[in-house]
Amino acid sequence: MMRAERGELLRAPLFHTPRNPFLLQDALECHWDGGLLIRDGRVADCGDFEAVRAANSEATTVDWRGGFLLPGLIDTHVHYPQLRILGVLGRSLLDWLEHRALPEEARMANDSYARNIAGGFIHALASHGTTTALVFGAHFASATEVLFEAAAHAGLRIISGLVLSDRRLRPELHQSAEAAYQDSTSLIRRFHRDGRLLYAVTPRFALSASESMLEVCQTLMSEHEGLRFQTHLNENTLEVAEVAKLFPWARDYLAVYERFGLGGRGAVMAHNVHPTDSELDRLAGQGTAIAHCPSSNAALGSGLFPLRRHVQAGVRCALGTDVGGGTGFGLLKEGLQAYLMQRLAPISLVIDSARLLYLATLAGAEAVGLEHEIGDFQRGKAADFVYLRPPAKSPLASIVEDAESPERVLAALFTLAGSECVREVRVEGSVVYRSSLGTL
Ligand SMILES: [Zn+2]
Repeated sequence: MMRAERGELLRAPLFHTPRNPFLLQDALECHWDGGLLIRDGRVADCGDFEAVRAANSEATTVDWRGGFLLPGLIDTHVHYPQLRILGVLGRSLLDWLEHRALPEEARMANDSYARNIAGGFIHALASHGTTTALVFGAHFASATEVLFEAAAHAGLRIISGLVLSDRRLRPELHQSAEAAYQDSTSLIRRFHRDGRLLYAVTPRFALSASESMLEVCQTLMSEHEGLRFQTHLNENTLEVAEVAKLFPWARDYLAVYERFGLGGRGAVMAHNVHPTDSELDRLAGQGTAIAHCPSSNAALGSGLFPLRRHVQAGVRCALGTDVGGGTGFGLLKEGLQAYLMQRLAPISLVIDSARLLYLATLAGAEAVGLEHEIGDFQRGKAADFVYLRPPAKSPLASIVEDAESPERVLAALFTLAGSECVREVRVEGSVVYRSSLGTL
């Protein structure tokens, strides 16, 4: 208790982006000999170590030099029931869903199976430095409940919901509109705003949700305050064509969701690899965010995400790992993949160090409507962070020792830092993961 009141002062180089580097210059803030003061789970101060120390001489100092502090990473699109299908290669979206993803998702009907996956999933997020995630739950209420329970137990910030579908998947994954409404309502009552948990209404995608199911989503959104919304949009050209056939009245894919009022601040739609200009304008106008999942887009051959068009239209974008269409839980790796693909995009855009960090942190907070609480180290925000420290004698350790600028260090971290570098992860100042390698 004494320690909490006096505060804990972490000494390490620290980086954060309190501003959007796609819009502003000098958005990256770095304190090379940095001090992050944590008191009662909040950021009480952040700056140069000596200055923070002088103003808070009673705080307990922890010397973490040799490593780096970043705000907790935020994954805006990840599927909990797909942990075990990571690493399936060589298929495209609809084929991959039918033969790999959906059979595995059907196994979540078994509670003990789901509990085992939920534990592994939460551990995987934390051990990769992810402190907040917007997660597709399961098609089964009990398996979705198990995920919320595992997240609460571990202390992560999880926003999730029962996945809703009533056609074109597998019969055991379909619900009636009535059951979808009742199961969602009881999960919302139990978990929404319970500690760090939030609920997101989650129709899988327009392809598997009839108009009456989308109406249920609309009703749920109107009946409870502060709910988030998540779904998929314009991922694959075949999927886009199928959606057009199913909803002949809709001018495009986004119009299906718009008809039911599904979108706006706190709504996140994954992928949007194949948008029209009109869709981009409308997404920007609504404040709907896009979860960009570059590893998944490459692995499933979905296409090259038009990031520059999104930025120019003013659409919010953040990063998603899209486990298991993607290639793993690491958001730093996801940032690197975004960088690589944008280098090759027909209308390319360089994602520099500041933009990488922003996409993996504050942009995610903005996407899920938590930017006042998390995403950077501004005073008063929750002390959610990841402490990265390259293993001794690794190429990364050698590079950062000799790096000439903060930008150079960040670029090297995004390129080379895997989960072996994640030494400690905290949410509101509490440890949610500590590497068995130790922090020193
Ligand atoms: Zn997905």
